[in-house]
Amino acid sequence: MSTDVVVVGAGAAGLAAARRLHRAGLTVTVHEARDRVGGRIRTHRPADGGPPLELGAQVVHGDRNPVHTLVGTGNTAAVPRRITARIVEDGTDRPMDVLGRGRRAPWLLEAALHTDPGPAGLSVDGWLTARGSTGAERRAAEEWFRQNWAADPALIGTRGIAAAHRGEHVGDGEYAVRGGFDRLPRLLAEGLDVRLGDPVHELHCADGRVTARTAAGRTTAAAAVVTVPPAVLTAGRLRLTGLPAEELAARTAAAARLPLGDGYCLVAVLDRPAPATAIVLDTDGTGGFLRCAEGRPEVLFVAKAAAADRLRTAAADPAALTALLATALPWTAGAAVLDTETADWGRDPYAGGAFTAPSATAGDAARQWAEPLAGAIFFAGEATVTGHRLPWVQGALASGERAAEELIEALAKR
Ligand SMILES: Cc1cc2nc3c(=O)[nH]c(=O)nc-3n(C[C@H](O)[C@H](O)[C@H](O)COP(=O)(O)OP(=O)(O)OC[C@H]3O[C@@H](n4cnc5c(N)ncnc54)[C@H](O)[C@@H]3O)c2cc1C
Repeated sequence: MSTDVVVVGAGAAGLAAARRLHRAGLTVTVHEARDRVGGRIRTHRPADGGPPLELGAQVVHGDRNPVHTLVGTGNTAAVPRRITARIVEDGTDRPMDVLGRGRRAPWLLEAALHTDPGPAGLSVDGWLTARGSTGAERRAAEEWFRQNWAADPALIGTRGIAAAHRGEHVGDGEYAVRGGFDRLPRLLAEGLDVRLGDPVHELHCADGRVTARTAAGRTTAAAAVVTVPPAVLTAGRLRLTGLPAEELAARTAAAARLPLGDGYCLVAVLDRPAPATAIVLDTDGTGGFLRCAEGRPEVLFVAKAAAADRLRTAAADPAALTALLATALPWTAGAAVLDTETADWGRDPYAGGAFTAPSATAGDAARQWAEPLAGAIFFAGEATVTGHRLPWVQGALASGERAAEELIEALAKR
């Protein structure tokens, strides 16, 4: 099969790129490994038609986020702020506002870091030490950073966090997509040629053409956009061939310096409804963030970094899961877990983790990963923006548009 452009991956970045290329009049074929579009946007819909829960990207950050326009006016809603907010600390459930009593709350520390990130190469861990943060304040702050950035504070670079916040102009607030976040990729995919369940094993460059090899056959194109997470390349699930060895080695080295942090999400359906809408941060580092909604039987865990692996272990042991639930949400004590649905991002062969935190030591790896290869293979995805923008959905969308523009310009020059 022959087309103008092959896009590898139908997540936010790949679909944004494909739409831009399609608008430019090019024929585009998108190959997607999974049997659905959206990648790390994945929505769980309760069997009884209750409100959806997000197993991947949770919220739309900011009132000027492009997602509002892409899903259509009126299809996003502000996430309510006046809800019960609690923490688990030393195995006990407490109100979240204890985090601000007699100590600096994690969100205030993070805001201070944005304006004063310290020298290049400094990690969040080093920054907290330099601020004299210790004891319970320190433990809560570390878990806050782990859960927001999907990485350990010793690995996260303060300069990258501050630059990402400066690089974003999406405004304030948090929003949910009505009907589920996965409406976004489904809308973006409309009218595009997307081949689902069709992983690309190899992209081969020869004689100014790119050939994508999949189990279903070959697609030959003038150029390609690669949007897979770097971990897919380092694991050898996508091979780039036909290119100078030193360029490939540099690309693989850049990918290796962009590891995705661990992520594990779980929806537990209980035999009783929640008495109140609540959010809980487990500062002991076992459950990540937990959410429940008044009148609904589901509890959603979103756990990243070390907590992801602890939750993964607990999920395999019903007694451990119910104990975790009872500590964080005492109303669940004695409740039976009727069903669970999980999204194991850390062990997902087509993700390799949640997302790419700005690293204290990765240097310019994100920009190197984003560089086109041989004027024919262009790169997009959240990992291409980390360190200078937030590695979230809006960053993925912008990277797809950027890669499409680069490709259009390169084809015009041929
Ligand atoms: C638990 C969690 C919480 C998050 N919370 C938020 C949040 O609240 N707000 C926010 O904005 N963002 C959030 N994010 C981040 C957000 O989900 C990502 O930044 C974004 O979805 C990444 O989009 P992408 O297109 O770069 O990558 P992906 O969505 O990973 O898309 C890449 C696509 O490539 C496909 N693929 C991989 N290998 C191959 C192959 N060999 N051949 C063909 N296809 C392949 C994959 O299946 C995938 O569909 C969260 C992520 C997680 C996991």
